[in-house]
Amino acid sequence: MAGPQVQAPPLREFAEIPALQPGAMGASKPYIASDKINTAIGFPGELTEGWQDRAIGRMGELLKRYRSLKVYLESCVHCGACTDKCHYFLGTGDPKNMPVARQDLMRSVYRRYFTLPGKVFPKLVGARDLTKEVLDEWYLYYNQCSECRRCSVFCPYGIDTAEITMAGREIMDSVGLGQKYSNEIIGKVHRIGNNLGLPGPALEDTLSGLEEDVKEETGADVRYPLNEKGAEVLLVTPSADFFAEPHVESLIGYGKVFHAAGISWTLSTHASEAGNFGMFIGNYEQLRSIAMRIREAALELGVKRIIVGECGHAWRVAYSFWNTLTGIGAGAKDPFAIELQNQLDLRYPQPMHICEFTHDLIQRGALTLDKEANDHRIVTYHDSCNVARASRMGARAGGQFDIPREIIRAVANNFVEMDPDTTRERTFCCGGGGGLLTDELLDLRVKGALPRMEALRKVADGGKVNFMATICAICKAQFTKVLPFYGFKMNMVGGVHQLVSTAIRLGAKQ
Ligand code: SF4
Ligand code: SF4
Repeated sequence: MAGPQVQAPPLREFAEIPALQPGAMGASKPYIASDKINTAIGFPGELTEGWQDRAIGRMGELLKRYRSLKVYLESCVHCGACTDKCHYFLGTGDPKNMPVARQDLMRSVYRRYFTLPGKVFPKLVGARDLTKEVLDEWYLYYNQCSECRRCSVFCPYGIDTAEITMAGREIMDSVGLGQKYSNEIIGKVHRIGNNLGLPGPALEDTLSGLEEDVKEETGADVRYPLNEKGAEVLLVTPSADFFAEPHVESLIGYGKVFHAAGISWTLSTHASEAGNFGMFIGNYEQLRSIAMRIREAALELGVKRIIVGECGHAWRVAYSFWNTLTGIGAGAKDPFAIELQNQLDLRYPQPMHICEFTHDLIQRGALTLDKEANDHRIVTYHDSCNVARASRMGARAGGQFDIPREIIRAVANNFVEMDPDTTRERTFCCGGGGGLLTDELLDLRVKGALPRMEALRKVADGGKVNFMATICAICKAQFTKVLPFYGFKMNMVGGVHQLVSTAIRLGAKQ
């Protein structure tokens, strides 16, 4: 099948609101999940008669379950502050990619079925029936939102379009209109333990290969253990770390840090995935059952600490939801959660981000670092949206911004910030988050990367930046793919622990 036509917009010196191009992305949608993919994870196989009633019924359930959804649908005053804040609108000019327009796709249906004026005078209040045409629009534009939450930063009412997108996807899944990419991945996690479908023997092979490579490089016996009972730490990392470039460089770095600290650790076949696509499709049951694999592995292996590798949305799920979903962190009350609470060492944050772990060691002078080893790099840092706007790190406010930067400054001499309008809580999504990292959406992904590429171009030209560090597996995969469309080398993106790996000194050869 021919791939999508991909057109990168020109990079501009000054960001400006694009000319409106109605319908510009009216054909950009991900493949629909097959009957087999949907039913494998417990969703209806396809859209069948009576879907409207079921969809409205599901919407009613979500409105009861999530009061925030009702508040968001009720409270928009159409002030327009969010309109030019979405990277997909900035990159495509399609007015339906304005956050408020994306919300209105659901708001109009909400008004029709859940408000009195909408039931009595639908046209007067912009209420619409949920027709197949409207559902198709939902499928298009709720799959052109990466759930990055940038728009919510600028909304005076804090309306979170990401939650509305999640609800839209959840309703569509509940009537058999699922997205192939996400639902197929969720099926793999349930069957095999990770998004990529890597079986245990493949993981073992990869990890023993890494041990040989690191021994060759450093002379040290750095271990990359799998399923080791009694280890102090369970590391849960995105499965891309096991084989993809540049991701694997960070996995190498984590192992070196554990080795230098003298702390025993293990990976798990059962929980060989930090990512949780249940969040992307807005489905609580999927979110929970995927997260439960981590609790099961932690109990089975008897670990004292759970540390999460470089993955943006995984950290959002871990930091924000694991406690009540699984009992990792205080919250859940079932017997296994209580057993886990008794097992974990609560002197440490549970869970902990790998950056918090490494940062703490650096602060205590426990690592030997040679910053000059990174002198061939002039580094900038891309804040991943889920870390920046949906989580935190460390004990101080803004730790999720400062800790990765402080690690970079400890391991590299040359660091340059990008435009402050594009970093920290104002960061732009890479363009591939939220379940959109699939080839049939490449044109959308390239266009959505525009604001980040413009900021990168400025520091590449003005500051000679040649390396963009990030702590998200999706950002790494997305940038590797889209950087060449904007004239950059694909290998200029990498992990924070890739820089740590270069600088850390361990063995006889170093
Ligand atoms: S959450 Fe992100 S992708 Fe979605 S509408 Fe807002 S800015 Fe755009
Ligand atoms: S900024 Fe908030 S209130 Fe204003 S249009 Fe956007 S969502 Fe509505």
